[in-house]
Amino acid sequence: MSNITKISTITCPECGNQSEEEMPTDSCQFFWECPNCEEVLKPQNGDCCVFCSYGDTPCPPIQANKSCC
Ligand SMILES: [Zn+2]
Repeated sequence: MSNITKISTITCPECGNQSEEEMPTDSCQFFWECPNCEEVLKPQNGDCCVFCSYGDTPCPPIQANKSCC
């Protein structure tokens, strides 16, 4: 368990707002509310969490090559 990045920058697909978020290391975050337009994002098909769909860094379980959720 090294070199795990816990900060991901999420880009809102609705308004383009970018927000740095700290990811939980032991679970996936399924919902994320954009602080700018208040759109609630959900993961796209095939992705386990909003960070994998909209962030610039995959979530910690994916980085560690573990299956997730
Ligand atoms: Zn937004």
